[in-house]
Amino acid sequence: MSALELRDVVVDYEGRGGRVRAVAGATVSVEAGRIVGLVGESGCGKSTLARAAVGLVPAASGTIAFEGREVRPLTRRARPADLVRLQLVFQNPYSSLNPRRTAGSQVGDGIRSRARSARVRELFEIVGLASAAASRYPHEFSGGQRQRIAIARALAADPSVIVLDEPLASLDASAQAQFANLLTSLARELGVGMLLISHDLAIVRHVADEVSVMYLGRIVERAETLPLWTQPAHPYSEALIAAVPRPDGEGVLPHSLPGEVPDPTNPPSGCRFHPRCPYAFERCRVEDPALVPLAGGRSAACWLQQQDAPPANLGQARGVK
Ligand code: SF4
Repeated sequence: MSALELRDVVVDYEGRGGRVRAVAGATVSVEAGRIVGLVGESGCGKSTLARAAVGLVPAASGTIAFEGREVRPLTRRARPADLVRLQLVFQNPYSSLNPRRTAGSQVGDGIRSRARSARVRELFEIVGLASAAASRYPHEFSGGQRQRIAIARALAADPSVIVLDEPLASLDASAQAQFANLLTSLARELGVGMLLISHDLAIVRHVADEVSVMYLGRIVERAETLPLWTQPAHPYSEALIAAVPRPDGEGVLPHSLPGEVPDPTNPPSGCRFHPRCPYAFERCRVEDPALVPLAGGRSAACWLQQQDAPPANLGQARGVK
């Protein structure tokens, strides 16, 4: 059993243009010590799914379970005892830190033992900050350091899973790389499972053990990170990978992902990706492919992969060398 399991989760909200299905049936699970990346363009529903995972927004249907117990929408500010070990870290930690309290006192909020100050110092060191920094105020830290404080505060609850919503988005490249290394070591050394939400596939590639790719409210591919990166099974995954800049300056293929993300209040018929897909054929416009298991333990929602003789890879199917 996975520590965090989301099955067929649907999340709706009332937008200006009417009811929006932000998440249209997503299944994701996170095991101890594993980092699961959830990637997609902004507006694809990944942050909404993260919030539903920790009970901050209600699911219209589907199930969300943490350590075998159903996660219900939170009705109070305080997290119920059985959800304390499921923590959420936001994109901008400054907004969730009280500017008038020292960083150490805020990290210590969740610690009940008498050895609290020793534990706070230890947590500062675990996240790569000097223990003496516990007496400083949030504005005295850089963005990357504040994000480490947010992780230390989450670790104070002895979590088995941390959901991180775009934790790297506000950091510069060097702070991103250091923070990514921290996440990897926390997963390996403390056995914490992580659901890492990011629009940045380049970072997720270096950190995550497996990746789920989300498009317009749906998971369209799920795979271990390396196979996804080297041989994506879904055209949308391929396009996201093609758009990641390479160190040699190559790699941004503007033609690979034409058009805008469609209006989620009125998603396209058939496969939701078909108006932007270079491989689309007639069936794609009328029938919606389900996410189905493929060889090698991966899953994809694409008719191309569900033909009698699926192509070895997408590039070959398109004649791209
Ligand atoms: Fe493209 Fe069709 Fe696959 Fe959708 S089902 S991703 S439109 S080939």
